[in-house]
Amino acid sequence: MYDPTASVPAFHPETTAIIAGRPPHEPDQPMSVPVHLTSTYVAGGELEYGRYGNPSWTAFEDTLGALEGGRCVAFASGIAAIAAVLDLVEPGGTVVAPRHSYTGTVALLDELEATGRARAVYVDITDTDAVAAASRGAALVWFESPTNPALEVADIPAIVAAAHANGAIVAVDNTFATPLLQRPLEHGADLVVHSATKYISGHSDVLMGAAIAASDEHVAALVKRRSLFGAIPGPLETFLALRGLRTLPVRLERAQSNAAELVRRLAGHAALEEVRYPGFGAIISIVVRGGAEPADELVQRTRLWVHATSLGGVESTFERRRRWPSEQPTIPEGLVRLSVGLEHIDDLHGDLAQALDSLG
Ligand SMILES: *Cc1c(COP(=O)(O)O)cnc(C)c1O
Repeated sequence: MYDPTASVPAFHPETTAIIAGRPPHEPDQPMSVPVHLTSTYVAGGELEYGRYGNPSWTAFEDTLGALEGGRCVAFASGIAAIAAVLDLVEPGGTVVAPRHSYTGTVALLDELEATGRARAVYVDITDTDAVAAASRGAALVWFESPTNPALEVADIPAIVAAAHANGAIVAVDNTFATPLLQRPLEHGADLVVHSATKYISGHSDVLMGAAIAASDEHVAALVKRRSLFGAIPGPLETFLALRGLRTLPVRLERAQSNAAELVRRLAGHAALEEVRYPGFGAIISIVVRGGAEPADELVQRTRLWVHATSLGGVESTFERRRRWPSEQPTIPEGLVRLSVGLEHIDDLHGDLAQALDSLG
């Protein structure tokens, strides 16, 4: 496989996203690694069986690994990658995590704690001193930045330094920022995970995940868990995720500029208590005045914005998060998370503004 990281000087991420994970530049090689639909391989090689490897996985892994600056292991979903990383913690070990993590991550941590597998300690991830103190005696400091859906931003280098000084490893869920905006391994984190379902695939048609590790030891441990537990991605999903990843830089550029402009235009709207935006990325959380009822009205009164969970697709979607019983009670009832897509900004703003104006 063509390895863009082997070239000096390194290419820009926009280029790497396009050229990595391709067959060698030789006559009659295909431009893209095809979908390898096979359960088994002729014996005597490195692959042997479809649960251990697939060339379609490798193409995706080489590309995302090059973008994050580590080695990537693809999984069946984001939560499968998260489960594999949490399983690196020794039985009874402590995991520090943000109070406002992805609800599935909190549910998984709570289950690990209920079964005695691990102990979870929740923190305010913006309070770096509190995170540092909590990391004393912990096995793993886990966090998202920005958090879902509160959009809090963590001080990654400071947390990594404190955690490492206390002997804990650090894993970052980089789903919201993507490797285009933030590369935690460059700040010393040990592991990164992605829900590739979101920005990486980018078209709301795939569920997939990935974990990226800095050390060979962690890569081997993750591959072992994928093989043992069987949370493997399908070859077609992996092909689609890589196809999506090729255009991530241009998609994100448009989505981000739409988001920034939308934040400017929504500022001070009478129907809104708050507009939360960390200053980068394409997720905005708005807090509708009056709580659950007007927020539920809002998501029914648009033509373009789709009321749906998930995020990171080319199409704009939004969702009142507290409609889920699993969402944290510290998230306001009226908080609606917007995943800003690639449509024309005037259409996006116009559709949302007429719905907000109609709330009276
Ligand atoms: C969606 C999401 C996940 C879970 O990923 P799946 O692909 O749905 O399993 C994990 N972390 C974050 C931040 C997410 O948004």
